[in-house]
Amino acid sequence: MERLFAAPAPPADLLIAGARVVDPGSGLDGPSLDVRIHEGVIAEIGPDLPRTEVETIDADGLVLLPGLVDPHVHLRTPGDEDEEGVASGTRAAAAGGFTAILAMPNTRPVVDTPIVLSGLVQRAGREAVVPTGFMAAITAGQEGERLAEMVALAEAGAAAFSDDGRPVERAAILRRAFQYASVTGLRLALHEEDLSLSGGADMHEGAVSAELGLEGYPSIAESVMVGRDLAIARYEGAPVHVCHVSAAESVAEIRRARELGVDVTAEVTPHHLCLTDEHVRSLDAGRAKMSPPLRAATDRAALIEALADGTLDCIGTDHAPHRGHEKEQPFAHAPNGVIGLETAFPAVYTHLVEPGLVPLAAIVERMSTGPAAAFGLPRPAIREGERASLCLWDLAANWLVQPPYASRSANCAFAGQTLRARCHLTIAAGAVAHRLIEAVAA
Ligand SMILES: [Zn+2]
Ligand SMILES: [Zn+2]
Repeated sequence: MERLFAAPAPPADLLIAGARVVDPGSGLDGPSLDVRIHEGVIAEIGPDLPRTEVETIDADGLVLLPGLVDPHVHLRTPGDEDEEGVASGTRAAAAGGFTAILAMPNTRPVVDTPIVLSGLVQRAGREAVVPTGFMAAITAGQEGERLAEMVALAEAGAAAFSDDGRPVERAAILRRAFQYASVTGLRLALHEEDLSLSGGADMHEGAVSAELGLEGYPSIAESVMVGRDLAIARYEGAPVHVCHVSAAESVAEIRRARELGVDVTAEVTPHHLCLTDEHVRSLDAGRAKMSPPLRAATDRAALIEALADGTLDCIGTDHAPHRGHEKEQPFAHAPNGVIGLETAFPAVYTHLVEPGLVPLAAIVERMSTGPAAAFGLPRPAIREGERASLCLWDLAANWLVQPPYASRSANCAFAGQTLRARCHLTIAAGAVAHRLIEAVAA
């Protein structure tokens, strides 16, 4: 069953000429290849193809990657369209090289009935410039008391289930949810937080929180829930996805569960990979506030190592738009979350690939086939015969992160940083979804 939805768009007909093509899944890392796209399909890959297309894009010095897949986006619709929507959110995704995204269901109302889900599916069919899937809630209203209509939601096209924004507090409810999810063949994506330990605190519990005199949200608030939930998943033999892993202790739990045979996939955000709790000292600390919080340098190092070795097999942005005036409140009152679609690959490229911490091929894998495989979505591949889902980057470009953004919101944790890597072209499901680059004369 189709679980990604997009507006109809004219199929691309163009020649991308002379790009370095990096697609670990297809075994490609070759300098200067031409890729011919005909009626939205990759028709031919090779050196010096004839320039007979309607349009030729001179990609000399640029890098062509398979389309990126984001398993964790908040589109804020229904209910908060002044923060984001399907059109603006998918434009932001396309600007960041994404060719598929999954949206979280913690909207107003919550996506916990087939009617709300069908409304989103129809909207995506009119407005989404990149294929978009919708997760449905695990529990009714995300209140943790009784299960949502999981089977009916799966039949209505849900891509997975999540109560993201909140944990599933009661273990017995989560156990039942795993049983129902297994019937549907869909994965649960879990926001892991023991609320009695996090206690509404706003930043990582450690040296910086002590110095700033702010209440701390300890790493164990995440890792004890990861441990509990992976134990339940193991007992039920059910697949599970751990959202936005932030703590070294959680990485250890995931590694152990996988060794025990649990079908666990796990995601990490660009901000947890690139920033630490030191960021909260900045004047604009509201843009460093998210749940889970930015953690210590030791946690960041553990996340990078786990990303490199594949323990963390997905990067997800947790793109979380908020109104400007809300984020400008004092730290304690600012809402959690940052936007991330437009800066995800540039941030990770700048902070991890350029310094030599993680190879480019591993990043590409964790941002494309990794999340696609976790959620059973089509795996973007630069291969003849595939519908084109790809993105073209200038890795040498420097750009200052600042408004305006394609997103309707501006709460970006990387604002003010100069990042490398600019996306010049995104083709999603065969259609041009974003382009900065002009064609050269044929
Ligand atoms: Zn979350
Ligand atoms: Zn989230």
